[in-house]
Amino acid sequence: MSSSIKLLSGDFGHVINGKLDTAPNAKRLDVNNPATGEHLASVPICDRATLDKAVEAAAAAFPAWRDKSWAERAEAVKKWGEHYQSSIPDLIPLLTAEQGKALGISHYEANAVTEWFQAMPTMELKETTVLDDEKMKAITRYTPLGVCAGIVPWNFPILLMVWKIIPAVLTGNTIIIKPSPFTPLCDIRIVEAAQQFFPPGVVQVVVGDDSLGPWITEHEGIRKVSFTGSSATGRLVAKSCSATLKRFTLELGGKDPCVVMADVDFEKAIPQIFMAATLNSGQTCVCAKRIYVHDSIYEKFSQALAGAFQNGAVVGDPLKEGVLIGPINNKMQHKKVSEFFDDVKSKGYKTFAGGDITSSGDGLFATPTLVDNPPDDSKIAVEEPFGPIVPLFRYKDEAELLKRINSSEYGLGASVWSTDLEKAGAFARKIDSGIVWVNSSPVLHPRVPFGGCKSSGIGCENGDQGLQGWCQLHSICVAK
Ligand code: NAD
Repeated sequence: MSSSIKLLSGDFGHVINGKLDTAPNAKRLDVNNPATGEHLASVPICDRATLDKAVEAAAAAFPAWRDKSWAERAEAVKKWGEHYQSSIPDLIPLLTAEQGKALGISHYEANAVTEWFQAMPTMELKETTVLDDEKMKAITRYTPLGVCAGIVPWNFPILLMVWKIIPAVLTGNTIIIKPSPFTPLCDIRIVEAAQQFFPPGVVQVVVGDDSLGPWITEHEGIRKVSFTGSSATGRLVAKSCSATLKRFTLELGGKDPCVVMADVDFEKAIPQIFMAATLNSGQTCVCAKRIYVHDSIYEKFSQALAGAFQNGAVVGDPLKEGVLIGPINNKMQHKKVSEFFDDVKSKGYKTFAGGDITSSGDGLFATPTLVDNPPDDSKIAVEEPFGPIVPLFRYKDEAELLKRINSSEYGLGASVWSTDLEKAGAFARKIDSGIVWVNSSPVLHPRVPFGGCKSSGIGCENGDQGLQGWCQLHSICVAK
């Protein structure tokens, strides 16, 4: 299968100072297909000296890039975006091969990115007059920070990388990307292609093993780290960044509640909640990870959702047509997900759909599973599985429900489903999270800020606030 993937031909490596560095003498890391175990490619492991080289190139490129106008930087991003669009058909099979997501989901991820290429260049951060009285005029403006780094997870390697590169370079920074060691291939090819549109050193990628992330977060030459990943690693990133007082943005884990009120429109809600619960085999930060259903419709709703799981959640080779649920991306994560299945089984909780982690016993697959009203303090109710196993809960009283929802350590996203928009909107305002969708599964947009509270993160991506996160706020006060 891998022989038919065009972007696998040619070597992989770091992209430093405008060039692909295949580092032939370096130790290497294997990248395998999680659906089959097939070896796809190997990538060099970045050592400390190679990271230093990338930081030096980024620092050298910074002054000239900073001094370009927003329009010039936006033009480079737009041109890169046009080229990116032409490469989507080749990226899709590579993304499925290294990440394991069904072809349709790879299609969605690869195409979703184009919205960022188109919208973000139009979102210039303008100078604002904040004071203009008889004594003084004061303006605020946003200036770039310098050399930045983006640390990317394996679940949406393209989208989450581009979310960092575009705002970083638009605001005048230079950026070094570190992909997940499980999914570096698309990221390398995309950054390699970007070199045609940016001066050397503006956009770079380094790939490596577990040492590389900490080297980046502690590096004295890097002024900001934008990190997307687990809450556990996010805490390590924050601690490490504190030594050099570098800025950081943390986009971390979640346990998104999905509230299904008694007056929900079943026909509209079921397909969307099904997608929200199973997107990317449950390996999505904003998947619906605990579904609260009003007691009066619990039976009817759970049967309808279980039906959607049984009919639609087709598990298998992600390259095959009709498959929606590809494998879990890596062995470590598969083991983690299996612990949730084991816990549900050993505690004797009932399931509506699925129940056993694998149907066939081979590969890194997990069977989409709905758990019937487990206790609020159970593992599946409290922790993030990051796999296709989702609990349904009954609720009667909204005030009580709000306490249950907000008692989570997480606060990333949430959704509320009701035909009464006023009631749903009022409830949404009381949820502790970075974002709430009313009558919609997770939809993200370049203009809408996205970030979490509590253990789900600090800061945000997207929107003007996301752009501001890559900048120093600069106030200028002129006496009259
Ligand atoms: P992870 O924390 O294991 O790894 C994320 C990245 O950090 C990888 O590139 C990894 O190599 C790197 N890393 C590992 N240790 C590091 C260290 N000590 N210092 C610096 N970098 C280090 O996360 P993952 O398993 O790749 O991703 C899954 C998690 O990411 C889930 O919890 C999910 O909810 C979260 N996530 C959050 C968002 C969001 O926007 N909030 C989006 C996607 C995923």
